[in-house]
Amino acid sequence: MANQKKILIIEDDEGIREALQLILSDHYDIILTEDGQQGMECLYKENSIQCVLLDIKLPQINGLDILKTIKEKRPECKTIIVTGYKSVETVSQAAKIGADGYITKPFDASDILETVKKFM
Ligand SMILES: [Mg+2]
Repeated sequence: MANQKKILIIEDDEGIREALQLILSDHYDIILTEDGQQGMECLYKENSIQCVLLDIKLPQINGLDILKTIKEKRPECKTIIVTGYKSVETVSQAAKIGADGYITKPFDASDILETVKKFM
C-alpha cells in the first residue's frame, strides 16, 4: 500500500519472521531479510525505511555489528533489537551503540505493536 511506513526485519528464524510480518503488515510496509548482508543491501537500496527490527543471533555477521553499521550509515533509522534471551550484557552493549528499543522473545502481538508505535 502506498504511503505506509516502511519497516525492515532482519531475522534468521523463519517462524519469527512470519510472526512479525503477520503482526505488523496491517499497519506497515514490511521487508523481510534473513541476515545482515541482505538487510544492509536492502537498507542501502530503499531509502524510505524508517525502522529496523534486528535479531541479535544471526549467521555470519552478529546483530550488534549490524546495529553499528546502521547507526553509522543511516543514523535517522530507528532500531529495535529482538533478542531471544534477556542478556544484560547484550542489552547494555546495544544501548551503547544506540539501539532505540528492545523486544524479548517470546513476544506477543501487543509487545511488538506498542514498541514499534513508539518510534513510528
Ligand atoms: Mg536468530
